Amino acid sequence: AHRVVIKVGTSTLVYPDGAINLRAIDQLAFVVSAMRHRGRQVVLVSSGAIGVGLNYMGAHQRPKAIPEQQAIAAIGQTELISIYKERFATYEQKVGQVLLTRDIFTYPKSHRNVLNTFESLLHQNVVPIVNENDTVAVDELDHETKFGDNDQLSAIVATNIDADLLIMLSDIDGFYTGNPQATTSAKLLSHIATIDEHTYDLAGGSGSRFGTGGMVTKLKAAERMLAANGQMILANGADPTIIFKILAGDSVGTLFG
Ligand code: ADP
Repeated sequence: AHRVVIKVGTSTLVYPDGAINLRAIDQLAFVVSAMRHRGRQVVLVSSGAIGVGLNYMGAHQRPKAIPEQQAIAAIGQTELISIYKERFATYEQKVGQVLLTRDIFTYPKSHRNVLNTFESLLHQNVVPIVNENDTVAVDELDHETKFGDNDQLSAIVATNIDADLLIMLSDIDGFYTGNPQATTSAKLLSHIATIDEHTYDLAGGSGSRFGTGGMVTKLKAAERMLAANGQMILANGADPTIIFKILAGDSVGTLFG
């Protein structure tokens, strides 16, 4: 894969107790920089703004009201991107922040602008770090709909920039026959070639405190990749250097495609 999108979930970036996982962020910066050196173009889609914002403000609970959630996201996004910038700098890799709303791709003009920005960043060997623009995207923060749905955003970005691989890092080794937090007998499925309603029957919501979409949004992302003849690999981000194994073709996580 020449062009790769990597999506990291909150669970990879923030510990359950709310502390920021700087080791994981550093390893991510290391892996992505190494991929760049090997001639790959990499886009990073990162969640975690709210988790990092809560930590920054010394708060322990996500506020209930949407404006306060958006404020925490704005604070956390600033902190998160400065951590990324600093960690990537130690590997001499430059980064650029791209904040998107999902509907951007439905308007031809903004669609073109976004694509041009990605192309320009990638040609300058800069790693785009993408997140949903939480100030604008209200739905996204709504628990009822799909807060933190960077899963689908990452697939939308990947298909639009013609990336053939989406690597999705989460807090779980891959896609199981049921939610492993609820069903101890759940088994890891290493390869899923097609996604249908039976696949969705196996998917549950998020098990973590800060986690967001759970498996349903990850399956939707995978479906999008498959429809564009791409692939998605869901793997455990506890150690982001797992990406080296994925790129070496080792069988880790769940391959969709
Ligand atoms: P992230 O923050 O990385 O996006 P989420 O918490 O949103 O992670 O989603 C991962 C969680 O989805 C897992 O920890 C698990 O509890 C839950 N889950 C539900 N159904 C499944 C399944 N079939 N296979 C694996 N995990 C599942």
